[in-house]
Amino acid sequence: MYDLIIIGGGPTGINCAIEASKCGLNYLVLEKGVLVNSLYNFPINMTFFSTAGKLEIADIPFIAHGDKPTRREALEYYRRLCEAFKLKINTYETVLSMTATDEGFYEIKTTKDTYLTHSVVAATGFYDTPRELNVPGEELPKVKHFYDDAHPYVGKKVLVIGAANSACDVALETYYKGADVTMAIRKDVIYSRVKYWIRPNIENRIKEGSIKAFFNTHVKSIHQDKVVLETSEGLLTIENDFVLAMTGYKPDYPLLKSLQLPFSQDEKQIPLHDTETLETPLPNVYIAGVLAAGLLTSKLFIENTRHHGTVIAENVKNKIAKTKTEYALS
Ligand SMILES: Cc1cc2nc3c(=O)[nH]c(=O)nc-3n(C[C@H](O)[C@H](O)[C@H](O)COP(=O)(O)OP(=O)(O)OC[C@H]3O[C@@H](n4cnc5c(N)ncnc54)[C@H](O)[C@@H]3O)c2cc1C
Repeated sequence: MYDLIIIGGGPTGINCAIEASKCGLNYLVLEKGVLVNSLYNFPINMTFFSTAGKLEIADIPFIAHGDKPTRREALEYYRRLCEAFKLKINTYETVLSMTATDEGFYEIKTTKDTYLTHSVVAATGFYDTPRELNVPGEELPKVKHFYDDAHPYVGKKVLVIGAANSACDVALETYYKGADVTMAIRKDVIYSRVKYWIRPNIENRIKEGSIKAFFNTHVKSIHQDKVVLETSEGLLTIENDFVLAMTGYKPDYPLLKSLQLPFSQDEKQIPLHDTETLETPLPNVYIAGVLAAGLLTSKLFIENTRHHGTVIAENVKNKIAKTKTEYALS
């Protein structure tokens, strides 16, 4: 029997675990992949846009060699946090479902076990589920929704889909390593919130023709050695070796359903929760981290969700103390 089960061992799950341990709660983190699985799957040479200080938690300094930390430095930071606080994390254990018991607790089923707990935090992020293109040929192995390294694309004809930060980063990195890069962009401009140090670079590469870009363009179909684009001037077929679909990600809604967690039925699909306490309509079940933004995935990130752990751990501690007092008095 646990006080708190934390689903997801990302930056938020780790933050919740540290705060739970400080509050003396009997907690456990269940993580389906490796520690900070999403960060582990980020591009190998990725650099955060936040400075290290803005990502720090629990007053533990985040050591980075430049002004902004790299993926590798972040992996080391979170690993050291887990070591320093001796966090209880089961990796490679996927949560499958959650049911409320008659006694008011929750039963969590995983790929390995079943747990009983007073409270639950869902901190499952969104980086596992790509926003799909839903076009013929998307299932071909040459279509990637996750980008890791430029090396496989050296000398190849690459189509990058999208015009937000990741798409621009990927287009530039593969271009600089010798790929022949084309971009397919839905709107008529590069996304306005692309970071200020990336935007002029991509715009200038497009202007000079080093990277080709088709604006107001959708991908119609993908084939072994070509891609058909629907441009404002009609259909266009281009030669192609790889498609890097940097079209964003979304929360795992089937998982939220298995956890019985409701979400708004509008275009934002935000998991329902009290914005002060982060508690969902299910008593003692909380939402934390980027998951709380639903489909508005750029609204919340590590930097502006670092208070979630404290809010939830304090809330759970107070509720458990109140229940114990009421029980003692009855
Ligand atoms: C390229 C890139 C750059 C970024 N740069 C920054 C930055 O500079 N600053 C910043 O603040 N943010 C940045 N972000 C955003 C930041 O990475 C995310 O906000 C952060 O990962 C969110 O943390 P989280 O713990 O809420 O979710 P995640 O990190 O996604 O963690 C969720 C965890 O839950 C696990 N999980 C999912 N389903 C299950 C299940 N069924 N059972 C068990 N475990 C499960 C996943 O494996 C994962 O480890 C960036 C994101 C990207 C993609």
